[in-house]
Amino acid sequence: MKAIRYYGPKDMRFEEVDQPVVGADDVLVRVRAAGLCATDLEVYDGVMFYFTSGMTRMPLITGHEWSGEVVELGSHVSDFSIGDRVTGECSVGCLQCEYCVRGWYNQCPHRTETGLLNRDGGFAEYIAFPRTFLHKCNGMAFEEAAFIEPTGVALYATKLAQTTPLDYVAVMGPGPIGLFMVQTAKAYGARKVILVGTRDDRLAVGRQVGADVTVNVRSENLVDKVKQATNGHMVDVVLEAVGKPSVWTDIASIVAPRARIAMTGLFAGEKCAVDFDPLVIHNVSILGSLGGPSVWGEAIDLHERGAVTAKPLITHRLPLAQFVEGVEIMRNRTDNAIKVVLEPGQASGVRNQEVNDG
Ligand SMILES: [Zn+2]
Ligand SMILES: [Zn+2]
Repeated sequence: MKAIRYYGPKDMRFEEVDQPVVGADDVLVRVRAAGLCATDLEVYDGVMFYFTSGMTRMPLITGHEWSGEVVELGSHVSDFSIGDRVTGECSVGCLQCEYCVRGWYNQCPHRTETGLLNRDGGFAEYIAFPRTFLHKCNGMAFEEAAFIEPTGVALYATKLAQTTPLDYVAVMGPGPIGLFMVQTAKAYGARKVILVGTRDDRLAVGRQVGADVTVNVRSENLVDKVKQATNGHMVDVVLEAVGKPSVWTDIASIVAPRARIAMTGLFAGEKCAVDFDPLVIHNVSILGSLGGPSVWGEAIDLHERGAVTAKPLITHRLPLAQFVEGVEIMRNRTDNAIKVVLEPGQASGVRNQEVNDG
């Protein structure tokens, strides 16, 4: 089969590899859609931690946002059928350790991560995947099902911050994760969702997916606008998806007493200057939020009943062979790119056009 494999910085090859071996507890999936993410850009550039630190084996088939159809079942698998639409998790835990048994398999010391850490990913024609971490999504289009992974990241942060209908919520960063956070916060009943960013085109997509208020911090006064939107209360929940030190100054300026801040951005070693006194005095909680363990079924349900959509985020579709072109589209934000979907079955490039999902 054909796959994209990482060999080193800027050395990712579209090449022929052996079809994966299907273990007794595995399901063989023909990949139909795989999303490109900022992490894939870091991988391609050779700066992603698992690759620079030597934690992962190489070469590795990358791609951690994917969906497809079941084509073969391992001998122990009875809960899937040939033809089921499925998507698989990023973190795959050992299911034995103290973290796994509590459902926190994103912290499993023995875990693999699909397409990132010692487990081949979805930028391939086929993937063999353990049934425990595979989910049916028969009510979804393949290209939307590829975005259960980032939806799960947004949903996990929303839950970790204990978002309720009482809460004014600020989402920092209108990237793909932030645009899903707007929707998951709304699904949890948030009183009002304020989306904060620097690009008007992205903020407009944010309003399209449910943001009540948007603030462009380059041209508007954040504190004034949040005050106005919350009748002076300020925000109870912050869902962060930026990963740059300047975001902290913005967050600190808009939180209400008892605020919960869930951080999903990675700051690549850059430090934030934090004045802790107001945070202590106001009982503010800061929560690190990694991945989306134990929320995949719920993320699929939110999509299937229309509470969350990926459609406005999908701006580009390319065949798998054009991986590098996809990476550059994301890097340069060509035509206001938000999400690029790679389609292993597609022979030639089709862009910004509805694809028959069969
Ligand atoms: Zn991702
Ligand atoms: Zn474990």
